[in-house]
Amino acid sequence: MTGRLRTALAEECSRCLRAIRVPVEVELEEEALPSVDIASGLPLDMDLEPEILRLNDHHELELLAVVREGIQLAEPIAPLCRPDCPGLCVVCGEELANGPHEHPDESVDPRLEALRGFRVDEESGTE
Ligand SMILES: [Zn+2]
Ligand SMILES: [Zn+2]
Repeated sequence: MTGRLRTALAEECSRCLRAIRVPVEVELEEEALPSVDIASGLPLDMDLEPEILRLNDHHELELLAVVREGIQLAEPIAPLCRPDCPGLCVVCGEELANGPHEHPDESVDPRLEALRGFRVDEESGTE
């Protein structure tokens, strides 16, 4: 059995966490043996080749497990929304793809931004 299938996976960009669809193409090449003797209808000894794919009792090949495994192998480890995705700003978490932005004082935790504003007000009050 050989086959090629195309699908798309719902993934998350590994840099900017944006939801993306990743197209994948899966090449399938499997050999399958019957599980019952076609002439006599008697079950065959499946222990002889335990690793090999088997047709079911109705001589049908069940593709679900094969396809699922093929897709898992094709799934990218670190999917990207685009090859040069710049990811997220390490300071504020903003998407860098939105354009450059600046942080007036990189050492200040953005969560403490309100406190800095408070300090400035205090200084101006003493002048
Ligand atoms: Zn991205
Ligand atoms: Zn930032």
